[in-house]
Amino acid sequence: MFITFEGLDGAGKTTQIARLRRRLEDLGTRVVMTREPGGTPIGDALRAMLLDPGQTSLSPHTEALLYAASRAQLLAEVIRPALNEGGIVICDRYVDASIAYQGAGLQLGTEAVESVNAFATGGLQPDLTILMDLPVDESRHRVSESLRTTGPDRIEQRDAEYFGRVRKAFREIAQYEPHRVVVIDARKTPEELEQEIWYLVSNRLNI
Ligand code: C5P
Ligand code: MG
Repeated sequence: MFITFEGLDGAGKTTQIARLRRRLEDLGTRVVMTREPGGTPIGDALRAMLLDPGQTSLSPHTEALLYAASRAQLLAEVIRPALNEGGIVICDRYVDASIAYQGAGLQLGTEAVESVNAFATGGLQPDLTILMDLPVDESRHRVSESLRTTGPDRIEQRDAEYFGRVRKAFREIAQYEPHRVVVIDARKTPEELEQEIWYLVSNRLNI
């Protein structure tokens, strides 16, 4: 089973993925946890390039292709092998993030980003996507609180209109694909979110 988490920065994906992983492992399930961009040596090199605030010359098309390249490598090295062995794969971001950030945020368009990603992924779709939905101002507030020491990455420096388009696109994907994409309200407490996510995942897995 392939599970992805999506949402604006600060939504709490990392915390919830760790909690879900622990619950699944406690039941003796084999879980592979990974993230985008990155998750492989090539992907981590692409991640560094994509997020470097000093990187000022990436064109929007290049940006979309680099995210897709990181994804193709992650599929080849990590995701497909784990799924083939019958494991559960939990991935922090996947194609929906590109449709939202590059398609809507950078305004490259859904269809262009979908076709690049169809090539990159061979069409592999998650079985379940958990969209941790958060208002843009709350996301920006949480990011600025958490980044006092490190400073924002290149993407986090973009303006509220950009993130407004990203959030709207995520919610539209969930409307088009309600069986695959489940929206949860990321303003709830970590404990409430953990319960809600566990209810969803355990139902899908019949455990
Ligand atoms: O989830 P994480 O914070 O690790 O993601 C790193 C950055 O990459 C975030 O700022 C996110 O907005 C950005 N990103 C993106 N397009 C993607 C995936 C991530 O702009 N397809
Ligand atoms: Mg981030």
